[in-house]
Amino acid sequence: MFFAVYERLNFGPLEGLRVGRFRFGVNTSFVVWRLGSTWVESGPPNRWPQLRAFAQEQRVETVLITHHHEDHSGNGGRLQELYGARVLAPALSLPLLQSGFPIQFYRRQVWGVPPRWQAEALPDSHQFPDGQGRTWQALPIPGHAHDMVAYYLPQEGWLFSADLYVAAKVRYGKRDDRPDQEIDSLRRALQLPFEHLFCAHRGHVPNGRQALQAKLNYLTDLRGQCRDLHSQGRSPREIQHRLLGREDHVSYLSGFHFCKSNLIKTCLMF
Ligand SMILES: [Zn+2]
Repeated sequence: MFFAVYERLNFGPLEGLRVGRFRFGVNTSFVVWRLGSTWVESGPPNRWPQLRAFAQEQRVETVLITHHHEDHSGNGGRLQELYGARVLAPALSLPLLQSGFPIQFYRRQVWGVPPRWQAEALPDSHQFPDGQGRTWQALPIPGHAHDMVAYYLPQEGWLFSADLYVAAKVRYGKRDDRPDQEIDSLRRALQLPFEHLFCAHRGHVPNGRQALQAKLNYLTDLRGQCRDLHSQGRSPREIQHRLLGREDHVSYLSGFHFCKSNLIKTCLMF
């Protein structure tokens, strides 16, 4: 446990718990937020003991999941079963949560493997009254994952952005990332009049609007440069070396599931 991450966070009435098995930076820690009896995300499956203790402090009635990835959805089934919580996820996530999805070795090490379970689909209206006087809005933000949504609280001006932000200057990608969709999602999120941004890995992001805009600018620019170089006859590998450099320990440790060449190839896809 010496290297594990455990930190309590507060933002007004929001209480957060940052957890992680490894202290390797923002990509290996995760923040679950609680507003009264409503949770945003359920956290990584291998951090269940810490999250169970968090759940025992205050009644959990509703859990809002942003997408199927195990760090976000991993304890949804347990919160449902042990505490009778209503756990909602995007309709597109449901079959993956129920039947399972591929989880590579590095992800198993960092987050663990979740039990399979059945979530409740978010209403088609994408509006959800939480029984505490607030109505949450879900905004589809595909790109990082096809099923991903953000949750927005209009009265508070809070946007819970799942994995839309994480970092402005991304250098690695997954094979199933879709930068084109991510760029559209960033644009749509920026149209909301939100005041505060909450990232699942960073927590509260200071100057959230500028941060999201910086990511949009960076990705648009990277995609443009990839396409220009490609149209000049450069190979994806040459483009990668020029724009992002050689693969490094992150690429090797992930078995090239999360690497620079994926980011270049997915930028060239459309
Ligand atoms: Zn994710």
